[in-house]
Amino acid sequence: MTDRSALQAALAPIAAGRATVRVEGSRASIVLDVTGLPTAARDALEADVRAAALATPGIADVRVAQTSERVGRRLIAVASGKGGVGKSTVAANLAIALARAGRRVGLIDADIYGPSQPKLMAVEGTRPEAREKQLLPVETPYGVPLLSMGQLVPAGQAIAWRGPMAGGALTQLAEADWGLHDTLVVDLPPGTGDVQLTMIQKHKPAGAVIVSTPQDLALIDATRAIDLFAKAEVPVIGLVENMSGYVCPHCGEASEPFGQGGAEAAAAKLGIPFLGRIPLAMAVRQASDAGTPPAAGNGPEATAFHQIAGQVGEWLDRKEG
Ligand code: ADP
Repeated sequence: MTDRSALQAALAPIAAGRATVRVEGSRASIVLDVTGLPTAARDALEADVRAAALATPGIADVRVAQTSERVGRRLIAVASGKGGVGKSTVAANLAIALARAGRRVGLIDADIYGPSQPKLMAVEGTRPEAREKQLLPVETPYGVPLLSMGQLVPAGQAIAWRGPMAGGALTQLAEADWGLHDTLVVDLPPGTGDVQLTMIQKHKPAGAVIVSTPQDLALIDATRAIDLFAKAEVPVIGLVENMSGYVCPHCGEASEPFGQGGAEAAAAKLGIPFLGRIPLAMAVRQASDAGTPPAAGNGPEATAFHQIAGQVGEWLDRKEG
């Protein structure tokens, strides 16, 4: 056996095809492909490879260089014209439903006014670690790692940030160590402020999902959000009508507190796809408060979210060609 094949055999069980080796005399040069590994795992792998190489007979000196391909990432912005329409609820459930459909999805909570994702995703009170100035997203019980503006500052302070600070924080979240998670759902603040501008200028999303309630006023605001993306040539994936129709938990009677179908008609008028409606249901609010988003379960409330995520998934497939 040559020294090189002996070394390669020694590294095979550890590096699983990630190591390319060269041996000159007693010196081994190893190129380690760490694509998709979080920083901590990269360093652990390098240490293991180095130790195994040094334990190989005839090798006295080991050099290891890490290399990685960039994982192409795309952002999906979830936006609304005004607050309280269920944008965060839709973002969390969309991310979970896409992950359940087999995509590698991460969630960015950029809503400085009310960063609610840590609570929705059952990781309230967590702080992300940072390695080499890069944040490590926090794992959640739903297979969707999360970074939230709310994890960077004490509760209630983010709102006092000046625009550029909020924009800079978004950059930190978007450029975190997402590993192989290549689809990032971004819960934007409502309206059309600095965070939205940074998002569009520095981290142009692949597409945007707009959330509205059926009310006229909410729809007018949603139209403004749509305009913002249209001007920046960010495709609008479609419009979601939330809090559409109310099913009484006691008698089962369906009623329409905000009317119904307004968003679908508006979408048709604006020439953007209509992705579906989510009923106003006590179960949605309760599940959100409990940190168990409906899309993670199999209850009747899950269906609407999975159908919407299915359409977003198809849109992504078409985009990837
Ligand atoms: P936004 O992000 O637009 O401010 P949230 O997602 O935080 O809105 O939702 C506002 C409130 O409405 C939350 O208490 C949430 O649980 C509740 N909510 C959202 N969508 C629904 C729904 N379809 N049915 C019942 N409650 C909902």
